[in-house]
Amino acid sequence: MAAKTADATWRERAQRVVPGGMYGHLSTRLLPDSYPQFFERSSGTRIWDVNGNEYVDYMCAFGPNLFGYGDAEIDDAYIAQLGIADTMTGPSPVLVKLAEALVAHISHAEWALFCKNGTDATTAAVMAARAATGRSTILRARGSYHGTSPWCTPLQAGTTKEDRSHQIYFDFNDIASLAAAAAEAGPDLAGIIATPLNQHAFLTQQLPTAEYAKAARKICDERDAYLITDEVRTGFRCSRDGLWDDLGAPPDFSAWGKVLANGHSLSVLLGSARARAGAEAIFVTGSFWFSAAPMAAALVVLRRIRETPYLETIERIGTQLRTGLGEVASRHGVGFEQSGPVTMPLWKFADDPDLRAGFFWCSEMLRRGIYTHPWHNMFINTAMSEQTVAATIVAADGAFGALTASRSQLGPNLKLSALLSRA
Ligand code: PMP
Repeated sequence: MAAKTADATWRERAQRVVPGGMYGHLSTRLLPDSYPQFFERSSGTRIWDVNGNEYVDYMCAFGPNLFGYGDAEIDDAYIAQLGIADTMTGPSPVLVKLAEALVAHISHAEWALFCKNGTDATTAAVMAARAATGRSTILRARGSYHGTSPWCTPLQAGTTKEDRSHQIYFDFNDIASLAAAAAEAGPDLAGIIATPLNQHAFLTQQLPTAEYAKAARKICDERDAYLITDEVRTGFRCSRDGLWDDLGAPPDFSAWGKVLANGHSLSVLLGSARARAGAEAIFVTGSFWFSAAPMAAALVVLRRIRETPYLETIERIGTQLRTGLGEVASRHGVGFEQSGPVTMPLWKFADDPDLRAGFFWCSEMLRRGIYTHPWHNMFINTAMSEQTVAATIVAADGAFGALTASRSQLGPNLKLSALLSRA
């Protein structure tokens, strides 16, 4: 009998002491069987699983890794601040310096309220819009992910109908649908929350039209309501500014997290002058929201965003990857769709409703040392290089070949078919 792998042993131990063996978006429950659950180490663009396998990591910790894992300058700032002070009875001046840096940098921002996770920031934004208007109804795009508070967690288990009330859905990029939702809200419209681009798992990613973003802005202006953008995932990966600032539709509130401290725990709610009263009215806080070390790391991140060509770098790498994958897929005669910005790609196979081809291909990539995702968008970081792309293309060549050879024999994807048939 083959010896049990370290990953299998950790899974068994976790099964006994962790709900479901693992929970949330880091669970491998909806990934191919070959995907490891536990990782030991990370550096630059690479991760090592507990079985000792090394991968180029296109998930980037689901976003936070923008400048590479363990970036020396960022982590030195974190460690230096840790040596001075981190979580204390009161905040450090680092908080004010970071707020000033963000306000100077993001067009619509006049103030900053720091927290830990993206959910903290999106939830505070919704609360502040309600507090500012004295109204309840929030419009949100159907299928958008804003985190896991009871008002927005994707599964209904454990939430009440009341948690989900006062929300009306519209379709992303669909001005008529947005206008209809605003009309339905009537005088109770408090705000609109939108992801700057459509990044729904499983689906082709969509960029917003400027008309759609401006229509959302206009509805909020006309109705004295608040526009919230959820930049938690997009933040700094497609623009140095807010994405809807670029489109001429600056939000009142914007929620950021993930890349802000390049993997250290920090998120922020930013807002315009008009939005300040709402943020001042609500009571939100947390034991760790004021910790100084992640803020010191974020100061370095922001300086890099301002002063280095990091965005051009990830766009160049993302474009090389998209072009190279497109070429190798068509050489193999495989219908392979790449959607979303090049820095946040999502890949799908043609004629693959239960993702059996996607699962097979990703497993083949994994075997070749490339960690990709079959249904969630991936991320490019600045530690990637032309060599990373070249190695990925070589792996993809092999994986497309293996897929072509096996596709007719692939059985149904039992992990996903029940979920996708409910959707
Ligand atoms: N909004 C968006 C668009 C996200 O992608 C996420 C996280 N994937 C969140 C909110 C929630 O962030 P967090 O997991 O840090 O609470």
